Amino acid sequence: MKFRLMGITNLSTVDWPGKLVTVVFFQGCDLRCPWCQNVEGISPSGGKEADTDEVIEHIKGLGPIVDTLVVTGGEPLFQPEACLELLKKAKGLGFYCAIETNGGNSQALKRLLPYLDFVVIDIKAPLNDPKLYAQVTGQMQKTGLTDKIKESLKLAITSKAEVEARTTVVPTLNDDERIIARIANDVKGVDCLRLQQFRNQCTLDPSFQKLPMPNRERLLKLARAAKREGLKNVKIFTVEGGLETV
Ligand code: SF4
Repeated sequence: MKFRLMGITNLSTVDWPGKLVTVVFFQGCDLRCPWCQNVEGISPSGGKEADTDEVIEHIKGLGPIVDTLVVTGGEPLFQPEACLELLKKAKGLGFYCAIETNGGNSQALKRLLPYLDFVVIDIKAPLNDPKLYAQVTGQMQKTGLTDKIKESLKLAITSKAEVEARTTVVPTLNDDERIIARIANDVKGVDCLRLQQFRNQCTLDPSFQKLPMPNRERLLKLARAAKREGLKNVKIFTVEGGLETV
């Protein structure tokens, strides 16, 4: 099946401890987060045309050491049929399969879940605050987004897959202990909440490049606020310290 491909990282060990991962970046995203650093991945017409069969052959050609496929983007569920076909084929070959999604297409996620071992869902703001969520995602016109993300979270938590909620901490939007505490309450039931730093290079809205990156100490403080809400497994990911359990 044809689809728009942003790119492939043949072998990665950075984000997935203990696994040798191939990452497939799907082109296009339905959101417009002003702080997005993946600017070239947003346009649906960007990237290049690819074919799911060819991608699978490419992954097979990398050899037996690769045991994991991660689909990400952009937003992988922006092209749900191709994403489903790729994951089905990878699972048929015995791969461990994972997705990183913004959670806005719960119906597509539901169809993919039988083939997924690990689901990462962005929780960019409290889910009971559609106004702030719209601000964080640049979607002032999009209605029902938080309801769809709540549904995605529920579907993932009740599936067999391991689930990680992931929050990028962005100054002026969600860099606040009370906001992170509310997010922690929203994601009860996930296996892990990961807080990661906003990066101020190459953002969709150039004004965000003037904001400072929250440092490791700041993320530790926010992670402790999440833990106080009862979450057992909270991690931070920073340029200073890499991935750490708090
Ligand atoms: S940060 Fe936002 S706009 Fe950028 S790829 Fe992710 S969901 Fe899409």
